[in-house]
Amino acid sequence: MKNNNLDSNPRRRFLRQAATVAITGAAALTGWEKIVGAAANNTFTLVQNGVPTAVIFAPDQPEKYTAAAIADLNYWIKRISGVSLKIVSAATWDQKTPVIAVGKSTFTQECGLTNKSLLEELSEDGAKIVITPNYVLLAGNERDDYAVTEFVKYAFNVRWIWPGQSGEVFEPRSTISVTPKQWTWDTPMREIRMLNSTYHFHSPPFARKELEEQLGKEYADEVWSASYATAVEETDNWLHRARSDVKRIVVGQTAFRPWWDEYSAEHPDWFAKPPAGVIQKGGNGVKLNISNPAVADTILSRWQKTHKDYLNVAPNDSRGYCTCDVCRSWDAPQMQSLTDAQIYNSDKAILTDRYLHFWNMLAKRAAAINPKVLLATYAYRSMQHPPLTNIKADPHLLIGYVGGEGYYPEEPIRQEWAGWAAADAKLFWRPNLLHCGHSMPYLFPKNLGEDLHYLMQRNMRGYDFDAITGHWATQGLNYYMAAEALLRPQTNIAEIENEYYAAFGKAAEPVQKYFSYWQEITKKGPSTLQDQKLVSRETWGGWWEGFFKLAPILYNDQAFEDTKVLLQQAEDLATNDQPVIAERVRFLRIGWEHSRMTSQAIDAALKANENSDDDALKQNAVQKREALMAYRKSTFKENPLAVNVTEITRIERSQKIMW
Ligand SMILES: [Zn+2]
Repeated sequence: MKNNNLDSNPRRRFLRQAATVAITGAAALTGWEKIVGAAANNTFTLVQNGVPTAVIFAPDQPEKYTAAAIADLNYWIKRISGVSLKIVSAATWDQKTPVIAVGKSTFTQECGLTNKSLLEELSEDGAKIVITPNYVLLAGNERDDYAVTEFVKYAFNVRWIWPGQSGEVFEPRSTISVTPKQWTWDTPMREIRMLNSTYHFHSPPFARKELEEQLGKEYADEVWSASYATAVEETDNWLHRARSDVKRIVVGQTAFRPWWDEYSAEHPDWFAKPPAGVIQKGGNGVKLNISNPAVADTILSRWQKTHKDYLNVAPNDSRGYCTCDVCRSWDAPQMQSLTDAQIYNSDKAILTDRYLHFWNMLAKRAAAINPKVLLATYAYRSMQHPPLTNIKADPHLLIGYVGGEGYYPEEPIRQEWAGWAAADAKLFWRPNLLHCGHSMPYLFPKNLGEDLHYLMQRNMRGYDFDAITGHWATQGLNYYMAAEALLRPQTNIAEIENEYYAAFGKAAEPVQKYFSYWQEITKKGPSTLQDQKLVSRETWGGWWEGFFKLAPILYNDQAFEDTKVLLQQAEDLATNDQPVIAERVRFLRIGWEHSRMTSQAIDAALKANENSDDDALKQNAVQKREALMAYRKSTFKENPLAVNVTEITRIERSQKIMW
């Protein structure tokens, strides 16, 4: 094209005017209507009475996520209206039909939305949505799919409360119109946004073997390619829409594992010096003597061979910290009165100041080599507490705060996080809290949402949740809250919770009561756990074992009687609504039934174990377990997303209480 002067080309001039007006949100458009025809009213119409009235404009050179974004957009248009839009390019557009432009193209450029304007305004994960009466622009710097997701959510009013079609909440309609508006979505959490799916913790062959061992070969053959694959894929899809499947950083407690084998013979002084009388034996958890300059030199020279933007400096897991004089001199004054044995291995030792001193030094040296570098590590165990001195964190550090092992009202998460933020640390949250609950309706969405927003206001640069275990019918409200609170730092937590209930249409009220009931039960957990002395530690976490024994106490017959009434009310009301509402309530019912049977099976097993010579109790335990397994088999086949049967059976088997 010879003439690139915008003002001498009438079509471009009008496009540009239209764009400028729309983007600045000012008054009516001029000229544009003559070219593209009609915006009959002040909305943009994609589908009118079941007939497409717009096209999707695709770039000639689509980027990595553009094709997926276009496919997703058409998926939703079809899902809502039953028809799809035609996809056109610069060469095939008739220059008349109104356009939804996805990705950066000649069209978006002509509308004034250039690569440069996007890049300058937004981060690489940021997305821009522009809706005018005459066209729609959906583009991200790298993530066009994020722009589509935002558009679908807020312009079409779609929500996805759990994976799979029954979790897709929208109003079916033959006309889809959207109201002019523009907004951006962006995030400071670039490096890691992970609500990990448990399905990926074990490689597929492992999961296949588990399924076979737990539920039999024949059953495994039958469900493997259908139900199991569906659960994995739909979960991934959901996490993708939640923008919570992004990991650029390299972090984990494995970076220094090879060191003992590689270096201990030649350089025993590179490893932590134990207290007098203890011999350093190495192993996966071995700590380094971080004040030995050769250790820092070796870390950096190993990293330089990779030329990467990330340097993982997280120590190996477990304790066993160095007690040499130099390492101890890096500790806070309050630590000087501790014995070597306490420094080496006790929960009295707060070694944050020592490690921050070391990480800062490494960060400065690494940044001199690569100014973009980020050093990743954890605030965990003896370094979980914020520093005791005034030491500040280097800006090249990214620190994963490991706190929150379950519903955690007594854990000092906010205080510790705020302490780290006051030390200028860039933080990501690495909680274990979604692991707990043993597939029961174990729900704390308000705490979770409010805490997430608290952390997001204080240097939160990412999250790495362990993990979405896949019990959508019981714990899905936690998952929804986590995902939405993270996407929407400005939105009221109660509003997010209410969206979830609204998805149950006419049954919303009893469903809300049903979930409120379980939230009250969950609140009783920490005190019950301690009163019954079910865990050695004074926290609610206690991981699986404590919760396993707690389940029949919290989730008892009375609780199931009370909630059964609410579910019944929901079921009755759902019959007067769209069929999908009844389907959603049925999904909850599966979670309820599975929880009831699991709780009873655990109770029976505990009683039989306590009275090992009572045959009637033993028989009862076997019967309850077999009934539960039969229910799991049928549930998983029909509705694999309600409860993650493989995961929960695996945990029970490892407990050796029911088996
Ligand atoms: Zn040392």
